[in-house]
Order: sequence, then C-alpha cells, then structure tokens
Amino acid sequence: MKVIGDYHTHTIYSHGKGTIEENVLVAREKGLSVIGIADHGPGHRFYGVKRENFKVMRDEIDRLNELYDDIEILLGVEANLLDFKGTLDIDENEIKYLDYIAAGYHFGIMPKNVGTAYSLYFQSKIMNMSNSTFENLKEKTTDSLIKAVEDYDIMFLSHPGAKVPVDVVRLNQACIENDTLLEVNGKHGYLTVDDLKLLKGLETKLILGSDAHSPHRVGEVAHCLDRVRAAGLDLKNIVNIESEGGSNGVNSNNRT
Ligand SMILES: [Zn+2]
Ligand SMILES: [Zn+2]
Repeated sequence: MKVIGDYHTHTIYSHGKGTIEENVLVAREKGLSVIGIADHGPGHRFYGVKRENFKVMRDEIDRLNELYDDIEILLGVEANLLDFKGTLDIDENEIKYLDYIAAGYHFGIMPKNVGTAYSLYFQSKIMNMSNSTFENLKEKTTDSLIKAVEDYDIMFLSHPGAKVPVDVVRLNQACIENDTLLEVNGKHGYLTVDDLKLLKGLETKLILGSDAHSPHRVGEVAHCLDRVRAAGLDLKNIVNIESEGGSNGVNSNNRT
C-alpha cells in the first residue's frame, strides 16, 4: 500500500510551522506524487489565510511546480462553514486561484452577521447540552454541510464529526451524489472507527489526510488507514492510496 497524495497540509500562511516549499520537500522525500496545501479559510478569526495571500500562494506554487517536476503541487483551502445555510468563507475572488476546496467546521469563525452566528451558537451550547439539543444540533449541522456540498464544488469535507456532531450516513449520501469525498483525518481522529462502520456496505469515497501542521507530518496517514481497516471497510473506498490492483485514483472531477 502506498500513499499517492496528501491533500490536507498547513503552512505558515495559516498556523502551520513550515513553508509551502518545506512541505513539498518532505512530500518528495516520502515519495508522494501529489501534495495539496489547504490552509484555513479567511473567515477564521485567529489563523485564516489573509485574502490577499491567495494570489501570493498561487504564484509560489506555480513557481515550485516549475522547479520540482517529480511532484504535483496543488493549492487548496480548508474553508470554514459559516452558517446554517452552508455558506463558506470563500468566494470567486479566492476560488479562482484554487485547484480544490476542502471544507469543514471549526471554532473561532467570525460570523458574517448576527443572524448567521453559527459558530457562536455552537460554542455557547455544545458544552452543556441535553440529548434532544444534541440531536437537533446534529441534524442542523448535517443539513448545513449538505447545503455546502450542493452549493460549492467541494473536493472533500475535512474531519467530519470533529468539534460538532454529524449524521455520517446522510452526509455520505450527499457526498456520493455530489462527487465529494469524506476525509479520514490524521489529526482529529474523525471519521472515527464507529463512524466508518456505519458506512460499511454503502457506496462511499474516502480520502486520507494528515492535516499536517509541521512539515515532518506531511504524508503521515498510517493511523487513518488503520481506522478504515479496523472498521472493516474495503480499502478500495480510499481514493489517495495505491492498494493491490493499482491506484484507486482521485477523480479529477473532485477538483475545481
Ligand atoms: Zn480542520
Ligand atoms: Zn486542517
């Protein structure tokens, strides 16, 4: 089994420790064919990419692609879900520079306005919730992510279920219909083994992501793979590894 690409790595453009080039160098050392830079979307209060830096990152990646011909370097973003309508914190001004979009839920998001204060709602409620509130939140979050998957060309949803609960089966169905992948994330432990077990026997497409915040962690997805194995899922469901019988293949439709 070989990891073909790691599409979830962070750099100093958000709160990663390494530069784009440092991530690229580790990816080459580890024999990856593709590396994706997916720093936090600009809506993050503390460490989102500054909007003016998307062009800077694009230019840097174009230059590095010229320099290193043994690896494909892609510019993505880990966009933030802003509200219950599935709005992300990026629009055409940023999307035009990107090769793909990842999206997920994070704390610390600046709400667009009081009516869409989604993250603040979670931060105040999530700590002390009754069962019915929890179920309600789970459904609302799932609906919001499904809206995002329908409205944007999202390559994958990052760490679904981390920080806020989701209905994995319903989300999976929407992802299959919209050609979006579910991530098995190396940093947060989501999807969990229990989540993955719910997908057994269903059509599902998964991507392993290191979520590396330091260059040396780029490509570190072995424990993600362990979770998929532990859940008893067929490794053929994973798009970014090469298992016996050849590459599973990232569908180019998944990219913007
Ligand atoms: Zn994240
Ligand atoms: Zn991340």
